[in-house]
Amino acid sequence: MNTKQQASKLSLRHFKAEMTDMWPLAKGSLAQVHNSCIRPDCPACASGKKHRAFIFSYIKKGRRRCMYVPLELVAELRKAIRNGRLLEARMSGLGSELILRFRQQQSRSKSTKNTRGKTR
Ligand SMILES: [Zn+2]
Repeated sequence: MNTKQQASKLSLRHFKAEMTDMWPLAKGSLAQVHNSCIRPDCPACASGKKHRAFIFSYIKKGRRRCMYVPLELVAELRKAIRNGRLLEARMSGLGSELILRFRQQQSRSKSTKNTRGKTR
């Protein structure tokens, strides 16, 4: 099926172009926490303000993992997570697009009586 190959090539090119704007990528969540430190007589801890930190949680092999995020990396990681959600939403649409395109091709080939002996 030559038309099918051309169509998927076109959409792959389209998808790749979309992907260049979706970098960096990450899947997980970012949480801000306020932790106590181990220093005795720490003014920040004594005041209850404590120390701001960011934690990245993600799932690896079915298990939730957490990592502290350096402050300098928070903005980039936030962008990566946002991109990851966009990518997931995009991927969710791809399955139905694939089926719809197949149906269109089927109805097109049926209209030209060009069946390839495949019946259901
Ligand atoms: Zn402290």
